[in-house]
Amino acid sequence: MSSNIRNFCIIAHIDHGKSTLADRLLEKTGTVTVREMKEQLLDDLELERQRGITIKARAVSMQLKRDGQEYELNLIDTPGHVDFHYEVSRSLACCEGVLLLVDAFQGVEAQTVANAYAAMEHDLKIIPVINKIDLTHARPDEVAEEMMNSLGTDPDDCVRVSAKTGVGVDDLIDTIIEQIPAPSGDPKATLQAMVFDSNYDDFRGAITYVRIMNGTVRKGQKIRFLKAGSVHEVVELGRFAPQRLPCDELKAGQVGYLICNIKSLGDVHIGDTISIPGDQPAQALPGYSRPKRMVYCGLFPSDGQDFSELRDALERLAINDPSFEFEPETSDALGFGFRCGFLGLLHMEIIQQRLENEADIDLVQTAPNVTYEIVDKRGNTISIHKPQDVPDPGDIEEFRQPIVRCNIIVPDEYIGSVIKLCQERRGIQRSQEYLGANRAMLVYNIPLAEVVYDLHDKIKSCTRGYGTLDYEMVGYEPADLCRLDILVNGGRVDALSIVCNRADADRRGRAVAKKLKAEIERHMFEVAVQAAVGSRVIARETVPAMRKNVTAKCYGGDITRKRKLLQKQKEGKKRMKAIGNVEISQKAFMAVLSDG
Ligand code: GDP
Ligand code: MG
Repeated sequence: MSSNIRNFCIIAHIDHGKSTLADRLLEKTGTVTVREMKEQLLDDLELERQRGITIKARAVSMQLKRDGQEYELNLIDTPGHVDFHYEVSRSLACCEGVLLLVDAFQGVEAQTVANAYAAMEHDLKIIPVINKIDLTHARPDEVAEEMMNSLGTDPDDCVRVSAKTGVGVDDLIDTIIEQIPAPSGDPKATLQAMVFDSNYDDFRGAITYVRIMNGTVRKGQKIRFLKAGSVHEVVELGRFAPQRLPCDELKAGQVGYLICNIKSLGDVHIGDTISIPGDQPAQALPGYSRPKRMVYCGLFPSDGQDFSELRDALERLAINDPSFEFEPETSDALGFGFRCGFLGLLHMEIIQQRLENEADIDLVQTAPNVTYEIVDKRGNTISIHKPQDVPDPGDIEEFRQPIVRCNIIVPDEYIGSVIKLCQERRGIQRSQEYLGANRAMLVYNIPLAEVVYDLHDKIKSCTRGYGTLDYEMVGYEPADLCRLDILVNGGRVDALSIVCNRADADRRGRAVAKKLKAEIERHMFEVAVQAAVGSRVIARETVPAMRKNVTAKCYGGDITRKRKLLQKQKEGKKRMKAIGNVEISQKAFMAVLSDG
């Protein structure tokens, strides 16, 4: 009965205890026995465990009895990191309520605010929860006040728990049942289901995660993906218990999965609506949007022989993560490789790490860049995904860059240093307000390029770890930008070009040339490194020629030692690319990010 269903997510800043609370809920509802309980059951990808973050939204269904009634609680897990905002929004669309979880010591953080606003936009019932009350330095009263000031929640409504010890979790389950509205859909209406996630199984094909909004879906039935326009037969359907548990039908209000022999994840779009084939399908649900790639970089095999192996590996990754995209790219300097688009820097790191773990290919990665827009002299607007594609200055009418709105939450003693940092990054302050006695929220508009590389780390280090950042895209704005080129022995190395502010070009050019000099090993000949904007050379550094042969000191005698040396030298060559006859290391490709 749908009146006994509760669909909810837990939203929280990273490390505030979302996974731990999910584990306790599974345990207290008897969904998983204590013996079966591996810690943080929902984070099932190896990498997520390693990094302690939840990357993909997951779902679990819990059955329990309260006052003689059977309830079904569906918990939809959401990723906590800014890179994965669009997945959070999809998950929220499937729920009637959220647990807004805040650490009793850390208090309200940037992602708490961003996620809470998203829940409000979806008109969801918000249950404020203060976690980690077992900590000796917990300050739940102050945190309740911070929540009131920043999010408008009533301190009396806050449920206090310890996800670690389980204290308060039973009360929380009662609160979920009492306060989160039951879903309102009609099981007799035409089928209307929201696709909120999907993953790929080598044997079963695409597994589509759905929330049934209206109607009923049964095994063997034909269904239609409205946006994709494709029709499929439901081969299997079921709930998450938390493993896939097949059943015969899913009704309005329920959350579960569908398997339809779909052979590629590209055919399943998160946010799509499922209905019935024919003339009478239900309306598409609102809110389908393609994930936005914010950051691009080039990936090239160190060894050109590995090109097709790299392509296969990228294809495999894309099958399980449609938010990642790639296309072939040719660079004069690096040869054949791929231009890859990511949701953000963390996403980029994750994909790169997976490639290395799973495919064992040595990669050269070019410096990450954002997408720019250029209006050319003929009035065409072009999207630029790689700096080397920026046309010559004479062809540019307007150069635009993406701007993001940053929410930064800091203890007040660090406000000054954060403001200074944001100003250096060309930020424009939009507001500044106090959340509690000594914590403030600063809102800045900052160019994405200035945020993406290291603003988060910089904020962490200038606030001793207490500052937090979250951002959302605002749009493109004109700026005085230019393409900075790097020349090695007179030849432009396309993969080393960057886009920077014209006012910074001289300083950046000098810094990059210096850094490159340090990263390029000595060769048998002199190597000249230059930085230039258009035809104007800004900086020049010289890597002097090598004097000695490395094997010279072996005197020809000890052959094993000589082999070892050569072997070592060979390993040192890994992640190198020959540009003309100059060997350039992976580190050098990242050196262009250095700003002196
Ligand atoms: P998530 O990033 O929000 O999923 O956070 P996790 O569930 O991974 O928790 C982050 C850290 O906080 C882990 O080391 C947990 O063991 C710890 N933690 C979570 N809940 C509690 C709690 O109630 N009390 C204490 N003392 N630690 C907790
Ligand atoms: Mg987690």
